[in-house]
This record gives sequence, C-alpha cells and structure tokens, in this order.
Amino acid sequence: MTASPAGGAPALPGLMLNKAHYPVTTLGPGTRAGIWTQGCTIGCAGCVSKDTWAADPATSVDIDGLLGWLASLPEPLDGITVSGGEPFQQPRALAALLHGVDAWRAGQPRPVDVLVYSGYSLSRLRRDHPHILGKCDAVVTGPYVERLNRPGLRWRGSANQRVTVLTELGRTRYPAANESAAGPPSMQVSVEGGRIWFIGLPGPGDMDRLDDRLRSAGINTGEVSWRS
Ligand code: SF4
Repeated sequence: MTASPAGGAPALPGLMLNKAHYPVTTLGPGTRAGIWTQGCTIGCAGCVSKDTWAADPATSVDIDGLLGWLASLPEPLDGITVSGGEPFQQPRALAALLHGVDAWRAGQPRPVDVLVYSGYSLSRLRRDHPHILGKCDAVVTGPYVERLNRPGLRWRGSANQRVTVLTELGRTRYPAANESAAGPPSMQVSVEGGRIWFIGLPGPGDMDRLDDRLRSAGINTGEVSWRS
C-alpha cells in the first residue's frame, strides 16, 4: 500500500484517461456520463478505438478531479459507462474510481447504474477482480471480433460479447440484453476542440459511411484514428 507523503490516507492512483464526455446516449440506457480509459494491449483486429491503445502516463488524471466532474454534470443522469482502452488494465485506479462513484451515487435523487466494458472474459474478471465487479451493475465482456459485428446487437460490438447483469438495478436497466433487437442509434458523432469523434458501437459499414459523409462535407478524414 502506498502511503501519502503526510502519512495519512493512502494516495489515490491516477487514471490514464482518453476522454470523459456527457451526455452519452449510445453506450447503455438513458442519459449517461462516459469515461474512456487510456491503454489496451488486447489488440482486437478491427478495433475502432486504436487511439486508446497506448498506455501513456501523460494522460493520467486525478480521480478526485474526475469525480468532481461527475458531480458537476446536470441532472438527470441515468448511468455511467466506463470503456476504453481496457479499464481492467488499471485495476487500482478503476477500483478507486468506482468506489468514489458508489459513494457519490448513493446521494443522487434517482438510481445511477454503472456499466463497464472489458475485452477480457467474465471468468477472468471474476477470478482477478471480484471486488471491482462488486461495484458494477452490468459488464460487457469479451474481445471485439470484427466478423461477428452485425446489426441489432444492443450494447455490444460483436455477437461473441456478453452483457452480464450483476445487481437488481442492472436487471431493471438491461433486460434481455443479449438478445438481438432494434435498439437506439448505435453512434453519436461529436465535435469538440476541432476534433470529430464518435461514441458508440458502429455496425457493419458504419465507419465507411461516416467517412464518406465527412468527405462529401469537405472534411479530410485521411488520419482518422479508427484506421491508424
Ligand atoms: S479490448 Fe476494446 S480497446 Fe482493446 S483492442 Fe479490443 S476493442 Fe480495442
């Protein structure tokens, strides 16, 4: 355990962060806050989040600051989605973040569910990180498999991935989540600070269609991160 310089409470680890965004409406039900961790070594072929792969310590943020950002968001907030990157490759920071989220959401006027994405299997997470799963209402597990990407996968990027509900709140928010269904739009497109980026789970051909639309609008997509 790391002691703080003053010898008081243990220092919170920083979290390598790709981005945090509100509102997110394509990764879980309702209006959500999204937190994308930085760093993933799993290397799924066809991953559209390659900008999250490098574990760059320069992206590290203070968890108290991230919790402060959450607390500053306008209501209503239905849930928090943590994706990546691979969140479970930063287990101490992820545990500290979800511990803080747990304390904060207890004081919210309506239930706030926590959904976490991982490229690892559920059995591996149950073996290595049961304490973190104890802070999640649902997890989506398994690597992305491009040939298993098909329309109608609610909350999942490919058909091999599994939604596992872990709490009573999760049961109400993610009913029949592994069944194919016409769901909400699979992607949000956001423009911030001169960057265009998408949030969500593109279906087959969606990124090429997005590329075409941006080009026809005169936007150069020569260096988009999903092809890097
Ligand atoms: S686990 Fe997620 S971020 Fe990592 S390579 Fe696979 S799809 Fe990409």
